[in-house]
Amino acid sequence: MRVVRTRSELAGARGALAASTASAASIGFVPTMGALHEGHASLFRRASQQNNSVVASIFVNPTQFLPNEDFSKYPRDEAADLAMLESLGVDLAFLPSVEEMYPPGAVTSVDVGRLGDVLEGASRPGHFRGVATVVATLFNLVQPTRAYFGQKDGQQSIVVDRFTRDLGLPVEIVICPTVRESNGLALSSRNRYLTDHERLQAPALFRALEAAADAVAGGETSVDRLRERMGSELEVASLGTPDYVSIADAETLEELRTLDRPALASLAVRFPSARLIDCLPIGPIGPIHPIHSIYPSASGSPSRPA
Ligand code: AMP
Repeated sequence: MRVVRTRSELAGARGALAASTASAASIGFVPTMGALHEGHASLFRRASQQNNSVVASIFVNPTQFLPNEDFSKYPRDEAADLAMLESLGVDLAFLPSVEEMYPPGAVTSVDVGRLGDVLEGASRPGHFRGVATVVATLFNLVQPTRAYFGQKDGQQSIVVDRFTRDLGLPVEIVICPTVRESNGLALSSRNRYLTDHERLQAPALFRALEAAADAVAGGETSVDRLRERMGSELEVASLGTPDYVSIADAETLEELRTLDRPALASLAVRFPSARLIDCLPIGPIGPIHPIHSIYPSASGSPSRPA
């Protein structure tokens, strides 16, 4: 695996990758902020299956953090991350500095309008401008055939898919299922902030999403009633304060009144030590994607029909 840190090194290494493979060379790209876990690994495995070569980036992007957020304490472990990328067969890792990603005098950003103002964007103003700007820049530098994102960050996936199409970027966006612990808690680099007590309560997020999916499978279409079901499951998480509980159009993120089209059920809960998010695509016929667990047999719940 080659490790590069500058735009020009990346351009050289990327050119060499493309030249070393067959005529229909394809490059799979997985952008990350590091502190890699099995959720990230699932994206790399999928990228390897579908492409001749795989490129990773590790960049804790300052422009997607608010001033009061965890940018400076975000977990960073370059040696462990590189070992994991190596073991996953990644060909090229791009680890730029902030100055490399945002050259002196940089003023350009990608604004995704209302899509970036709702849900996570309402609690984290400017977050999606930061995400869209850095991902678009990475797409231009890496020039991947396909790029891989986790369903866990559902709004992020929708935002990336939207600006990629709007700007005509020649990248196929692949959304991969959320990897969970056996208790349903979605793997996240931020889970390590949780206290033992908070960790016991954190699976309530997934139970709330499951309750909504179960109700939908039973024929419920009233979004008010679905939100109520989710809210009552969250009451178990007494240490957390729900930030939002939403069922929104899966493309526009407009809040729905009736579940009459593909939707995203999503929620955020603020625990004293970390703010957690989770989501599940649902539709009038039930959950849209299978739920993916790293312990499928232990959990019992995760695999549902698509
Ligand atoms: P991050 O390093 O948190 O920016 O995440 C990098 C990518 O990994 C994003 O596309 C995330 O959605 C994805 N990801 C993070 N956690 C999970 C998970 N538990 N399952 C699947 N994908 C994930």
